[in-house]
Amino acid sequence: MSSKIEITKVCQHCGKEFIAKTTVTKFCGHTCAAKSYKERKKTEKLNQVKSPTEQRTDYNFSQLNEKEYLSIADTCQLLGASRMTIYRQIKSGNISAVKLGRRTIIKKSEIEKLFAS
Ligand SMILES: [Zn+2]
Repeated sequence: MSSKIEITKVCQHCGKEFIAKTTVTKFCGHTCAAKSYKERKKTEKLNQVKSPTEQRTDYNFSQLNEKEYLSIADTCQLLGASRMTIYRQIKSGNISAVKLGRRTIIKKSEIEKLFAS
């Protein structure tokens, strides 16, 4: 008894019709299978690489998470708020900040306090 099957399939890579020996065959030959595999790997790699902006954001966030004291710019980034908003929060006493020369330093716990109540 022969279990030989022949199915006409369309190659997933070049679009050519071919006779497949098994139902799972997707490509007309090794060349197309290899090429398709390579391309898939390439796209996977491309998708994994983030844009420099995204990478920078990741880097900044991990840095900020380890910081105990934040600048106004850090706080803006962390909260996604504008400098004005931060200054307003400081003025109204919601955030206590310390002036160090020309720099305003905010303790991270001060920001966490905002979410505590
Ligand atoms: Zn093909």
